[in-house]
Amino acid sequence: MEMEEKVKLAEKNIWQALDDYRAHTCNTAVLDDVSDVFVHKLARDNTYYKQKLRDLFRKSPVWDEELDAMVINGTRTHNPDYARVLCLAERILAPARQKMRVTENTLLDLALRFFGYPEEDAQPAIDAMEKLVPKAFALNKKPSRIFRSLCDGLGVTDNAAGSEFQRLYAQFADELSSRKIDFKLYVSLNPAHFITMSNPKNDKRGDTLTSCHSFNSTSYQYNNGCSGYARDQYSFIVFVAADPKNPETLNNRKTMRQIFGYMPGNGVLLQSRLYNTSGGTYGAQEDMQLYRDLVQREISELEGAVNLWQTYTYHNNSHCVIGTGEGFGGYADWFYADFDTKISIRNDHAKDYQRFDLGTYGLCISCGKEISANLYCYDCDDEAEDRDEERCDECEEYVDTTYPVYDAEGASIRVCAACRNQYYAYCRECGEYHPREEMTVQEDGSMLCRSCQSQHTEEGGQAA
Ligand SMILES: [Zn+2]
Ligand SMILES: [Zn+2]
Ligand SMILES: [Zn+2]
Repeated sequence: MEMEEKVKLAEKNIWQALDDYRAHTCNTAVLDDVSDVFVHKLARDNTYYKQKLRDLFRKSPVWDEELDAMVINGTRTHNPDYARVLCLAERILAPARQKMRVTENTLLDLALRFFGYPEEDAQPAIDAMEKLVPKAFALNKKPSRIFRSLCDGLGVTDNAAGSEFQRLYAQFADELSSRKIDFKLYVSLNPAHFITMSNPKNDKRGDTLTSCHSFNSTSYQYNNGCSGYARDQYSFIVFVAADPKNPETLNNRKTMRQIFGYMPGNGVLLQSRLYNTSGGTYGAQEDMQLYRDLVQREISELEGAVNLWQTYTYHNNSHCVIGTGEGFGGYADWFYADFDTKISIRNDHAKDYQRFDLGTYGLCISCGKEISANLYCYDCDDEAEDRDEERCDECEEYVDTTYPVYDAEGASIRVCAACRNQYYAYCRECGEYHPREEMTVQEDGSMLCRSCQSQHTEEGGQAA
C-alpha cells in the first residue's frame, strides 16, 4: 500500500474511533476540539515512524491492513498436538537412544508418556524418569522444563544459539504449551487504537478500563501519551475488545490492553503494565504470560527465529534499559516495580541487542503542535487563562503558586514548589534559586551559586 494511501486510511480510522469514543458518553468537550490538523499529523507521523514495525507485522498471515493490526484468534492458535510432541521428543533424544541399553530405552518410552499422554496416570512415567535422570521431575515444574532436565541428564543439550537442539526444543516447548484461544487478540499499530487505549470516562454503560490515559478527560496530564505512543517507532498496543463482532467496541470498550515495545530485528521485547476491567493490574501473571507468549510466537515466526526467550521482571533488571523518548508525556508504566512489567530477550540476540526508547512528544489536539503534557498546548487551552492557576515552566503542570528561579541559561523562570525542591537550590549569598548541579556545598552545609562562589574564591585569594 502506498504511504499516502495509508495516511488516508489512518485518518479515516482516527475519525471513526473518535465517533465511537463519544457514542456512549456526554463527556465530549475534548473530543469536540479535535481538529483536522491533529488527525492528519497523527496519521502521517504514525504511518511514517512505525513503518519498520509495520513492514514486519505485514508478513503475518493474520495481518489486517484496514485495521492496521494482526488479529490472533482461535484458528491461529491450537491445543497441543501430542503426536507431534512425541515426534519432536524422539528427534531430540535420538542421539541418546543410540547409546542406551534395551532396559533404558524401555524406561525412556515410558518416561515420554508423561509428555505425550497427559490424560494418563503420570506416576509410572514419573518413576521411569526418576530412574533415568534423578530429579528431572519436580512438582510445579513446567513440563517443558522437566523435559529440558531430561535432555541435560541424557547429554543431548546443545546450548549454542541456533543449534539443531535449540530449534527442535523450542518447537517442542511451543507445541506442549500451546493453547487454542477462544477470543481475538489485536496486536495493533493503528493510531486510532492508541488514542482510545483507555475507555471513555462517564460511559453510560458503566465505566470500565478507564485510566489517566482516557482521551475525553483533562484531569491528568498523562493522556498526552496516547498520541506520544502512536507517533513513536517501536511501541504497539495489544488488546481484547468486549465484542469483536461489534467494531465500535475496539474503540470504546476494550477489556484488556497493554503496550509492548519491539525494535525489528533486535530480539528484545518489552511488555508494559496490563490493564483490564479491574483497572491497572499489579502483576496478573497468568494473563501476562499468555499474551506475551502469543506475541513472542508471532514475532519469532515473522523473523524466522527460534522462539526461545529469557524473560525478566523489568524493574531493576541488569540486562536492558528501555527509556522514554524525548518529550514523552505519557505514564511510563514499565518503570514501576509494582506493575511487574517484563522484558524478554530472544536467545539469538542474547549478546548483540540494542537498547531503545518508547514514546515521544504528543500533539495538541487543537493546533497539532508537539507538546509533552496534557491534550492542549498553552495557547490553545482556553481554560488556562481563566484559571487562577499558574503554570510551572519545568513540569508544565498548573498549580496554585509558582516561584522564581534561574534556569541553566541564567534566565528567570517560574516553577512549582515540587520542581523547585527537586531541581533547584537556595544560594545563601544572593538569596536566589539556581540549578542544583551548579551549586557548591559549603562546610556548614549551605550552598553557593556559581557566581557567588567565584566571587568568594577571588576574595579568598586576595585575603591570602
Ligand atoms: Zn495548540
Ligand atoms: Zn513543576
Ligand atoms: Zn548566589
